Amino acid sequence: MSYDYLVVGAGLYGAVFAYEAKKAGKTVKVIDRRNHTGGNIYCENVNGINVHKYGAHIFHTSNKEVWDFVNSIVEFNRYTNSPVANYKGKLYNLPFNMNTFNRLWGVTTPAEAEAKIAEQREEAIEALGGREPQNLEEQALTLVGKDIFNILIKEYTEKQWGRKCSELPAFIIKRLPVRMVFDNNYFNDRYQGIPIGGYNRLIDGLLQGTECRTGADFFQPQYREWRKYARKLVYTGAIDEYFDYSLGQLDWRTVMFKTRVENIPNYQGNAVVNYTEREVPFTRIIEHKFFEFGKDSETGEPIKGTIITREYPVTWEKGMEPYYPVNDDRNTNLYHQYAELAAKEGVLFGGRLAEYRYYDMDDTVAAALKLAATELY
Ligand code: UDP
Repeated sequence: MSYDYLVVGAGLYGAVFAYEAKKAGKTVKVIDRRNHTGGNIYCENVNGINVHKYGAHIFHTSNKEVWDFVNSIVEFNRYTNSPVANYKGKLYNLPFNMNTFNRLWGVTTPAEAEAKIAEQREEAIEALGGREPQNLEEQALTLVGKDIFNILIKEYTEKQWGRKCSELPAFIIKRLPVRMVFDNNYFNDRYQGIPIGGYNRLIDGLLQGTECRTGADFFQPQYREWRKYARKLVYTGAIDEYFDYSLGQLDWRTVMFKTRVENIPNYQGNAVVNYTEREVPFTRIIEHKFFEFGKDSETGEPIKGTIITREYPVTWEKGMEPYYPVNDDRNTNLYHQYAELAAKEGVLFGGRLAEYRYYDMDDTVAAALKLAATELY
């Protein structure tokens, strides 16, 4: 059997590309080394709860094309992410908004909050002596001041990334907006939600009718062979692994999950609680049922028990699942060297792992649609 495309990786990028290719009348085979499709958005249904096996995923986008596309596959619920931060036992609303400022400083009006932040920003800007902020720490201090930085950013970020805020690039915290209104919606995007019935429905919808083999590792000779039967290869795995780490290894942050079934209906009252202090070894606790309002995804009945997952950030080592690219200078340069090799390879590389980019799901879908538009038509 021969195919137009062999897609390595049945995650969101690979599945969107496969869907588009099939729609364009191409023949596609998708393989994945894991024993399930969906990559990191895969959910496991346990006692009626869709457990986000590889970390919490909340779909959000301002891109109408992407939103319409995913909604053409599956309906989304109206989940709105409003995480809470726990710092030394005190709770703060995220993102930084009037609720947070009231909790931090007792201020009750936007004018008072503005004044407080302005005073602390001023202090940070002065400390730079005319220089532009050069790292995450300087950037955060000049944007939100020392109180927010110390209580809600510094220790969480250092745990998450395993390095000092002064050694991290500023763009990592692009996702922390400041709001002078009482609004705990974490994302600024126009559209947001979780697929009704869980993410597997999205992936299953995308891969419906496409030949898909799980438990098939492209780096095993018998599967690598399959490349011969495809006109073109779409590779969505880690780019350095593709080249057998010949130029060296890219660094990743990974996450270790400890999941527990609790025999109570409500553990923390929210889907996401971040633990922003250094002394707590995990970064957050996810209570999965609240992504779907505590109701059984099949029957709509309230779920009696609950399932929680603690996320422990870890440094990636060979054999672990890579999660977050570490976009510092060394890794960015190394990635560019691999990208040069990739350009000569005649293979289509795409997705978070192959492009070494901190893609959100909507970026991933957009990138796959873009490739499809240029490649297939
Ligand atoms: N962050 C933080 N405090 C928090 C949550 C996030 O300082 O309570 C920072 C941290 O640097 C993190 C980044 O914001 O790496 C992005 O976090 P988010 O939870 O939005 O991203 P995710 O880990 O879900 O991709």
